[in-house]
Amino acid sequence: MDELMHDACERASRYLADLGRRRVSPAPAYLAGLAALGLPLQDEPIEPALVLEELDRLGSPATVASAGGRYFGFVIGGSLPAALAANVLAAAWDQNAGMRVASPVAAALEDVSAGWLASLFGLPVGCGVGFVSGATMANFSGLAAARHALLRRCGWDVEARGLFGAPPITVLVGDEVHVSLLKALGLLGLGRERVVRVPVDSQGRMRADALPAIAGPTIVCLQAGNVNTGAIDPLSEVCRRVQAEQVWVHVDGAFGLWAAASPKRAALLDGIGLADSWATDAHKWLNVPYDSGLAFVRQASDLRAAMAATAEYLVEGERREPAHFTPELSRRARGIEIWAALRSLGRAGLAAMVDRCCDLAARFAEGLRSAGFEVLNEVVLNQVLVSFGSAERTRAVISAIQAEGTCWCGGTVWQGKAAMRISLSSWATTDEDVDRSLQAIVDAAKLTSDSQSPADLGNRNRSAP
Ligand SMILES: *Cc1c(COP(=O)(O)O)cnc(C)c1O
Repeated sequence: MDELMHDACERASRYLADLGRRRVSPAPAYLAGLAALGLPLQDEPIEPALVLEELDRLGSPATVASAGGRYFGFVIGGSLPAALAANVLAAAWDQNAGMRVASPVAAALEDVSAGWLASLFGLPVGCGVGFVSGATMANFSGLAAARHALLRRCGWDVEARGLFGAPPITVLVGDEVHVSLLKALGLLGLGRERVVRVPVDSQGRMRADALPAIAGPTIVCLQAGNVNTGAIDPLSEVCRRVQAEQVWVHVDGAFGLWAAASPKRAALLDGIGLADSWATDAHKWLNVPYDSGLAFVRQASDLRAAMAATAEYLVEGERREPAHFTPELSRRARGIEIWAALRSLGRAGLAAMVDRCCDLAARFAEGLRSAGFEVLNEVVLNQVLVSFGSAERTRAVISAIQAEGTCWCGGTVWQGKAAMRISLSSWATTDEDVDRSLQAIVDAAKLTSDSQSPADLGNRNRSAP
């Protein structure tokens, strides 16, 4: 075991050391090499050391280098050193975080982190917190608590009786709602398509002046951090306008909520504490390893009522039972890395990480503008949208940069216009990473005209593995 663990750590260290030198998207030859995994399962056991060697040889070079400093796709953070190291130790611990009796240490780390996080975000003391797999499940959990609370106020027990015959709940979303929130609504029987969509402004923010009149049980879903522009809904204004006994406000703050931890940017989230539930990701801007998300609910009892399950063999103590606040029963102990990340950063370190990403986004935008390209969004946070002219040319530049390998950026369509998305979400990104990536993007754009197909450009720069 000792030798194997040293081998694993050495391979992991070598992988990390190599991240800065290798291309970001895996080279085609290594992707083709994955075919070697496709063997029938053999009869006899194989030495663990050989299994690890095979995994490293075939798997490591085929990874996307999203743990490095030049990955700007989607909204994907890296892993902070303390969080990654804690993850390695936690893997050895192999704790089941569902029950306090199965892992007192995991429960204690969740208790402490939950308090720290609520204080960092300005959420109510004592709110209920669920440590879930990501913002999709965090949205699901917050909305499940909303469904519970609103129907209970109507005298309906939704956990016991389901939605058949229940009073209807109106659900309001901004027109730029994230697809995962709609999915969560579908899972909860609230429907992906029976929502009322509220118009948004040029940055994708819900327009408070366009809110419909509200009557009856209503969930208002706000967003802190539009996945394209980074824009944050006018939380304070909407919360004040919709305030009523039968209204529940949920905020999807998958990455944007972290801006509340930066004194320089917290004003963007003014009014955040007025909502009833909040969803965020830890694997995005807190830079803990996948997977890790967080659901917060003002009244812990609402989350507990939606999620708790009891049976005689499940021992229950006086204190918070982790599984009563999440959809899962057994699960990995995500609180370990969250605790380690926060403990290593401190308040100032977390604010600095958020601010650095935002500053790097501004640096990117400035560089693109001065190269003559159009930045489509107000760069308020860590997201940049850039157009290279026609949709064809923009798509060609995106394909070229992905194939060239210096960095990785994805595409989107923003309010009818094709754009490249650049997301600055990693502690590991430096000024130099941004400058090198800018240069690669500008070079790719120079070689691109509307008449060229993306394939021509991809081939031109395809470097050897
Ligand atoms: C990423 C994201 C989600 C989904 O988060 P997962 O961690 O992938 O489940 C939801 N909402 C917004 C705004 C996001 O950016």
